[in-house]
Amino acid sequence: MDFLESEEIGLLRDTLRKYLAKEVPAAKAEQWDREDRIPAEELRKLGELGMCGLCIPEEYGGTGFNVMAMTAAVEEISRHSIGLGSYFFMCAGYGGLNIAESGSAAQKERLLPLLAAGEIAFSYGLSEPGIGADLGNVATRATRDGDRILINGAKRWTSAASMNQYIYSLVRTGPESDRRRNLSFILIPTDAPGVTVTDLAAMGHNGTPLADVTFDNVELCIDDVVGGEAGWNNGWNVLAGPALEAEKLAPASLALGTAEAAMAEAWEYSQNRVQGGKRICGHQTIRHALVEAKTQLQACRLMLQQAAWLVETRRPSAVATSMAKLFVAERCREVVLSCQQVMGAYGYANGFQMQRYVRDIIAVPIYGGSSTVQKNNIANLLRLPRE
Ligand SMILES: Cc1cc2nc3c(=O)[nH]c(=O)nc-3n(C[C@H](O)[C@H](O)[C@H](O)COP(=O)(O)OP(=O)(O)OC[C@H]3O[C@@H](n4cnc5c(N)ncnc54)[C@H](O)[C@@H]3O)c2cc1C
Repeated sequence: MDFLESEEIGLLRDTLRKYLAKEVPAAKAEQWDREDRIPAEELRKLGELGMCGLCIPEEYGGTGFNVMAMTAAVEEISRHSIGLGSYFFMCAGYGGLNIAESGSAAQKERLLPLLAAGEIAFSYGLSEPGIGADLGNVATRATRDGDRILINGAKRWTSAASMNQYIYSLVRTGPESDRRRNLSFILIPTDAPGVTVTDLAAMGHNGTPLADVTFDNVELCIDDVVGGEAGWNNGWNVLAGPALEAEKLAPASLALGTAEAAMAEAWEYSQNRVQGGKRICGHQTIRHALVEAKTQLQACRLMLQQAAWLVETRRPSAVATSMAKLFVAERCREVVLSCQQVMGAYGYANGFQMQRYVRDIIAVPIYGGSSTVQKNNIANLLRLPRE
């Protein structure tokens, strides 16, 4: 067993650290947080660094199926901005990984080079006003007449729909009776006639704004179904495929990067703040809080790396990825809140980054399969009897 990260991933981290230190200073991340928007050129620059094609085959401009490297990239970027980390994954993961794994030949030809270059990104259209965790019951509907399809319905919490070029949407394409079989993923262009996007405000995780999206007689064709004809009524299998395993790792890496940044700020602050005649890092409660947080982060990092390795080597990974999503999101939330306490009122007020990390981390256990949903998944996958 070798616990060292590969030389390639070490190099990738090094490249990203140098780039982000220069190109994404705290002031820029604060601006994206305030404006709840990240300029498209930031994604293109990550494309130029070769980051967007980490899960795209070489013939389409990428470097293969590097799930561990992609997880490391999301973590590094999120140390600076969880918004940029999410935007990056909407290109490299939602886009590159999904199309490489499930797209038709024509979709790969057309979309993968653009995704590898960071020119386009996909939003995820899963949730609906009436549907959260219960995805098998999505109500947005597509009807088919030959090769022509017509889509009507509404999606909710569609992050960055007002920035991205496509919504990777789960829609019902047959009778509701067999709720998981009659579903398909359709790539709906955000500029198609009949698509309306309305941004929604939220407390944090800014930069990729949440949005309500409505589809009013949006007319597309069978080539827009992910996987083409073979993807019609095959949405549940597409959702449950290898891309889902990698996607559970994205929120975990976003959380890890955010919590590492919070830890770094509290660690440094504790050495500058003097109370009771000594630096607060000399008080045992603060020392223990920081060390406990660091220990939790080390456990998170190892769990995430092991789950990413299972996915990358195409071993069974559903339990490991669900456990990683559950554990890392929950522990990182605790770590950030504990680091905030270390900084007292300065961890709450504007001026330091900590208040942003707190607003950002709160969301992670909710999305990408909530903690409750992951617990249900793990119990079911491990066949724990209900009675
Ligand atoms: C920052 C952010 C970004 C998001 N981005 C996107 C996006 O890009 N695309 C997208 O489609 N969605 C997105 N979402 C939505 C997210 O995926 C949903 O919020 C999530 O699926 C939960 O759905 P819900 O909020 O409707 O909660 P509900 O499903 O209504 O659940 C409410 C509570 O009940 C619990 N619960 C639900 N079902 C069960 C059950 N069977 N057993 C036990 N407990 C249960 C849940 O864990 C939760 O605590 C985002 C959310 C946030 C906060």
